Amino acid sequence: MSALEKYPNLFSPLDLGFTTIKNRALMGSMHTGLEEEPGGFERMAPYFAERARGGVGMIITGGISPNIEAGMGAKLSTSEEALQHKLITDAVHAADEDVKICMQILHSGPLARNADAVAPSAVKSRIAPHTPVELDAAGIEKQISDIVNCAAKAQEAGYDGVEVIGSAGYLLSTFLVEKTNQRTDEWGGSYENRMRFPLEVMRRTREAVGPNFILIFRIAAMDMLQGGMSWDEIVTLAKKMESVGVSIISTHFTWHESTVPTIATMVPRAAFAGVTGRLRKELNIPVITSNRINMPQVAEDVLIRGDADIISMARPMLADPDLIRKTLEGREDEINTCIACNQACLDHIFSGKICSCLVNPRACHETELNYTPTDNPKSIAVVGAGPAGLAYADVAARRGHKVSLYDSASEIGGQFNLAKQIPGKEEFFETLRYFKRRIEVEGIVLHLDTRVSADSLKDKGFDEVIVATGIAPRTPDLEGIDHHKVVSYIDAIKGVKPIGKKVAIMGAGGIGFDVAELIMHKGLSGSMDIDTFAREWGIDFENHPRGGVTDVEPVVESADREVYLLQRKSTPVGRGLGKTTGWTHRIALSRRGVKMINGVEYLKIDDDGLHVMIDNEPQVLGVDTVIVCAGQSPLRELHDDLVKAGLNSTLVGGAFEAAELDAKRAIKQACELAAVV
Ligand code: FAD
Ligand code: NAP
Ligand code: SF4
Repeated sequence: MSALEKYPNLFSPLDLGFTTIKNRALMGSMHTGLEEEPGGFERMAPYFAERARGGVGMIITGGISPNIEAGMGAKLSTSEEALQHKLITDAVHAADEDVKICMQILHSGPLARNADAVAPSAVKSRIAPHTPVELDAAGIEKQISDIVNCAAKAQEAGYDGVEVIGSAGYLLSTFLVEKTNQRTDEWGGSYENRMRFPLEVMRRTREAVGPNFILIFRIAAMDMLQGGMSWDEIVTLAKKMESVGVSIISTHFTWHESTVPTIATMVPRAAFAGVTGRLRKELNIPVITSNRINMPQVAEDVLIRGDADIISMARPMLADPDLIRKTLEGREDEINTCIACNQACLDHIFSGKICSCLVNPRACHETELNYTPTDNPKSIAVVGAGPAGLAYADVAARRGHKVSLYDSASEIGGQFNLAKQIPGKEEFFETLRYFKRRIEVEGIVLHLDTRVSADSLKDKGFDEVIVATGIAPRTPDLEGIDHHKVVSYIDAIKGVKPIGKKVAIMGAGGIGFDVAELIMHKGLSGSMDIDTFAREWGIDFENHPRGGVTDVEPVVESADREVYLLQRKSTPVGRGLGKTTGWTHRIALSRRGVKMINGVEYLKIDDDGLHVMIDNEPQVLGVDTVIVCAGQSPLRELHDDLVKAGLNSTLVGGAFEAAELDAKRAIKQACELAAVV
């Protein structure tokens, strides 16, 4: 079956009257950090061009400020600034003249990090550093005309349209909600008045840019705020937007200050598309849906259900710029799927680093990291088929080296085979499927069930040996650590040893949290099920109370266990987890009654349980199981033996350095080394 037969909706063009989008795949807006970086536009041009060549119908850039007070680093208000943007629009249109590129206009309003942040009322957001200054009437007029001017400059820069963000707790959305708009003039009070600002922005923008320019309004179709927007208010706003000349409504879910996860791994695929579908029925213009749509079949299914006209995939386009082209060529099994970890994209952005991707470290580094064909093909042995070994083997082989890949296990994946067992981490299966296919495509010679020693490689004639043997779990030096109630995290995850009803987890790093999720999880799946997800996070998709969540109590089902999650550090438990996802894990575990305790000194383990000192008080946690998640040490023996035997050996991944190791670092290091071998 051809791709056009398999995905007839995804590959059908969308006629906007004055222009046509060639298919229904949109690369959604993502801030990359390059917007503010010196030379960033020179880097963004190839980044976007690569995605245009990769087959999407339309691209939306990261958010650009219309003025200084709007708070994003990059601003577009002058013709000189427009010239910079021309680098992007020219590169995209040169890559494929049929691909549309729109610029997102983002006015942060009260979420701006600068002290001169502005808002309809002086109401500080929970997540903002400052209380914003309340705009007076002249200030409101200025903000509107700055946004309109920004759109006009985007048109001058060669964009095919603009998206104005009217959601997430940014300026336009704060006019809509009573909590953030406490004005009594014509811009506040009744809903009619609260809608006035976003409507004026879009009406005047349409006037300024003329009829043949794509205008997208991003609406909070479910803002996840207690007392947020009602369904009627959302529908009314969307209809009014249609009447003032908006071409497309893009649905967004959540304000940044909400405590409901909307894009993390545990969010089921396309969980929110049904909300878009309901809005779509009320409108005559096309609608975009988004969030956790990461594979073509998921996109096609959303379109078949009639839930949207366009599918926005943002992070999936970081993970694989060729996602749509591969789909068109029937190579879906070669898609490098976004696993929704946020580790290299959003976590980077919120830490002031350049965005990238855990599974594709080239993302946003297209000018720096390239896998060019080698003119000196070598014979390379890669030992260890965990993320580091797999990434190395893949890149080296695609560059033309002859690669043999060894693992003592019976399947590829290393620790990812443990990670994929954790509820909410099912996407890790996709990464393993991707690498399995890459091995086939590149003709990498795979040797499973093969423990490698220096002796076994000595006479094989390899030019290079890459040691990606990973780690060994750390065993704390503690009296009773060999007691029968002590279980390693590996045995706990594999289910090799039974876990009791009262459990202490020693170590509250990423693995300690994952083990706690696993042993408190009830049922087999659940984590990828939309109803369970909605119940656990207090979302009412059916009745859509204000914000989708108002007065909906989360209902969490847990295994019948009492669990202590312990660490020695005095910092809050879970602080080291991902910046944008750590809170979801902390909330999920505390709702399951897991007791998270810091500042613990471990004394001994015996028949009575785990003896600890907490706040200078000796205590016995009367547990029947102690699971050790106390970090890891590198496995380097093979490397040492190879060096002694006079072979060229290079360490990578956990074998190189176990401290603060994660898959992001392992894959990035492997790709960088293989790019130059
Ligand atoms: P490994 O994955 O440990 O792979 C090493 C491989 O080498 C193994 O397959 C092993 O069998 C093989 N091997 C060892 N010695 C030999 C030998 N002599 N001969 C042949 N083969 C050998 N990271 C994240 O970034 N995000 C997450 O969400 C995340 N979640 C995790 C959840 C769990 C439960 C676990 C356990 C880990 C998680 N990690 C996560 C960590 C991540 O999996 C590791 O950082 C990553 O796997 C390290 O990759 P590696 O290739 O260096 O080592
Ligand atoms: P980790 O994050 O380094 O945590 C190890 C834990 O063990 C810490 O809580 C540490 O805290 C404790 N510890 C260290 N030495 C100890 C000792 N001698 N005795 C008792 N406790 C000790 O490592 P990890 O949990 O093993 O995870 C490995 C890597 O996988 C991490 O780098 C992590 O980033 C990655 N990972 C990531 C995710 C994710 O969601 N992003 C999930 C899983 C794993 P104290 O010293 O304070 O007790
Ligand atoms: Fe997706 Fe993770 Fe890559 Fe971000 S870092 S794009 S969430 S795979």
